Amino acid sequence: MTEEGKNILLVEDEKSIRDAVQAYLEHEKYSVTPAEDGVIALERFGREEFDLIVLDLMLPRLSGEEVCNKIRETSTVPIIVLTAKGTVEDKVVGLELGADDYLVKPFSPRELVARVRALLRRAGSSEESQSIDLGDIVIDVSGHKVFEKGSQIDMTASEYKLLVTLAKQPGRVFTRSELVRKVLGYDFEGYERSIDSHIKNLRAKLGEDPKNPKWLFTVHGIGYRFELGASDDSPHG
Ligand code: CA
Repeated sequence: MTEEGKNILLVEDEKSIRDAVQAYLEHEKYSVTPAEDGVIALERFGREEFDLIVLDLMLPRLSGEEVCNKIRETSTVPIIVLTAKGTVEDKVVGLELGADDYLVKPFSPRELVARVRALLRRAGSSEESQSIDLGDIVIDVSGHKVFEKGSQIDMTASEYKLLVTLAKQPGRVFTRSELVRKVLGYDFEGYERSIDSHIKNLRAKLGEDPKNPKWLFTVHGIGYRFELGASDDSPHG
């Protein structure tokens, strides 16, 4: 299997490094989406699918640490962290954040390409375990897609994140404010209602009957929980 054409999000505020790394990766036939700060990185991440992320830690607006945390709430996409710091402690912090690998600046672009290739291979070989099978519905976690009987269900990034967050921990009750934080990224009380409307849309797309759900259950006064396929003859009401 070739890694050509894999989509890489490159987050780096220093233009000279960004341009050089982009040129190197494109030369290796990777497709590169550049982002110059943490906020733009998360916007791009919410809108597009990536096979790998190269993430500088020292970024304006939103730090690489925060970007990494945010991404890890919903995704297992491989992340390589770039750090200018280079002390052992900082490396450990980078890996504890959930990054898969790190490079200390200044690094050789050739070394980065080698790390990218190795990580993509590793990710490719474990792709099969990265899906959640609900019967007619299959969540392809590594591909950020949801299928019903083989055809893709069109979802917004928020609906997808909501579904994956719940489905990854079946049986666990999530409060509305917890879901707001994990899915929407802000924690004002007023936004808790927007979780309800995302749930409503998600149920419609999954073909769920809210009065007799198979997967997505309302926990009254608290929030929601997901079950991996309740039986069809479950009691009504
Ligand atoms: Ca930087």
